[in-house]
Parts: sequence; C-alpha cells; structure tokens
Amino acid sequence: MNKVLEIENLTVNFDGFKALNNLNFSMDSGELRVIIGPNGAGKTTFLDVITGKVQPTQGRVLFKGRNLKKIPEYKIARMGIGRKFQTPRVYLNLTVRENLDLVCNHNKNVFSTLFNRPKSGEIRTVAGLLETIGLEAKAESPAALLSHGEKQRLEIGMLVAQSPDLLLVDEPAAGLTDEETENVGALILSLAEAHSIIAIEHDMEFVRQIAKNKVTVLHQGSVLCEGKMDEVQNDPRVIEVYLGKAPE
Ligand code: ADP
Ligand code: MG
Repeated sequence: MNKVLEIENLTVNFDGFKALNNLNFSMDSGELRVIIGPNGAGKTTFLDVITGKVQPTQGRVLFKGRNLKKIPEYKIARMGIGRKFQTPRVYLNLTVRENLDLVCNHNKNVFSTLFNRPKSGEIRTVAGLLETIGLEAKAESPAALLSHGEKQRLEIGMLVAQSPDLLLVDEPAAGLTDEETENVGALILSLAEAHSIIAIEHDMEFVRQIAKNKVTVLHQGSVLCEGKMDEVQNDPRVIEVYLGKAPE
C-alpha cells in the first residue's frame, strides 16, 4: 500500500516545551484518518508541521515519499496538501458560485490541464462541486448570508476544487449545530471516497459519525494509541487522558 504520509520521530520544541514529542505516524493513500486528543495534545501543531508552517526541531515528514524539510508553506500546498482552518476563509461579498469559480478557474492553466488529470470519481466542475457540498440552492447567495456550517462546506469545496492529494481539516464541527455537524460529516465521508484525509476532531459524536477506520489518539505530543473507534474508546489509557470518565 502506498503511504501518503510518513512521520518519523517528530519533535517540536517551543522554548523548552515539547508540543510534539518523538511522534511517529503513517497513513495509507486513500485513507480517512481521524485524530483525537485532549486540548493541548499537539493536534494543531501536528498539522502546522505537515503544512510547513512550523519547522520540526527533530524528525521528518515524508509526503508521498518526499521529505518536506525546509520546503516553504506555499510550495507544500502546491505539492498537494490542502488545509481547512477552523474559521472559514471564504470571500463573503462573493456568491457561493463565484467563490467556487475563483478556485476552479485559478487551476485551469495549461500545466494543470496537461498533468493534473482528475482522479476517478472526482468532480471538479463548479456544478459538480455545488452538488458535492450540498449548496446548489444557495449558489447565487452571497457567502455572507450562509450559516456557519454552510460556510464550512463551501470552504471544503474550495479546497477540493484544487484536487489536493491530502486534505487536512482541523475541527470542522466546532461551533456547528447538530444538523450542520451531520452535513459536514457526510461531506467528509463522501470526499473520503476519492481523497486521503486527516480530520482532527474534538466532538465525539462527530468522531463516531466519520471514524469508519483507524483513529489516532494524541496525548502530550505523542501517539497514545491507534485503532478502530470502539477499541480506542474502551482503551483505559484513552478514557483516563481524553474522556476523563468511563465510556457510556
Ligand atoms: P491542540 O490542537 O491539540 O489543542 P496545539 O497543537 O494547539 O494543541 O498545542 C499544543 C501545545 O503547544 C499547547 O500546550 C500549546 O499551548 C503549545 N503551543 C502551540 N503553539 C505554540 C507556540 N507557537 N509557542 C509556544 N507554545 C505553543
Ligand atoms: Mg487545535
């Protein structure tokens, strides 16, 4: 199986504090991996290192076999790592369709037409994207009028338009209603059919919805354990550090 990401002995030292501590991690191409862990476990720092925002003190990150050491953030993004931040970054004064148009057209240069053939099952037209993110009915509305959850879905659509090989989403359900949480979860599951995705999440209901395969638990900057959601949930170490109580 091809590895999309391999991380070896990763340490990030912030003035003596190890936000990541000798962390080892790998995931297969095409996998949807959910990462959970208590506040301060190092989850966001982990994404910061993968995207090149933070340089590791020690260790290395291999993306599709390539060492990302000292490669600047914008180049890593171009290499095919797309990141969804917690707060949506969409153009509020543009309509939903215009937001998507912008990213789709941006990619329509000769180079991408020649070398960036869409993967099977991947839809990259604006119409296809609108359908994927479930915002066809709101296509002509300014993004400013969307709910928080709809903005999240729009931003995820804008990332997908760029055909990333690896999609990173940091707490996409934060601040969403139950209904929107479910919509965003369904969107991530449908994207997982054609993308490698790391979803970082705090909301356990949401994790149960999207964690069909392996879940990684971070604690104090290291991997505490990995496994299927029901295994992880019943692991006494996880209950102690993460849930702080016995599972229901
Ligand atoms: P999580 O996303 O799991 O809540 P973070 O990766 O944001 O955790 O943070 C991990 C730890 O590293 C926290 O204790 C945080 O305070 C610390 N930290 C994060 N970024 C910095 C920074 N730039 N400088 C110093 N400490 C930081
Ligand atoms: Mg975080």
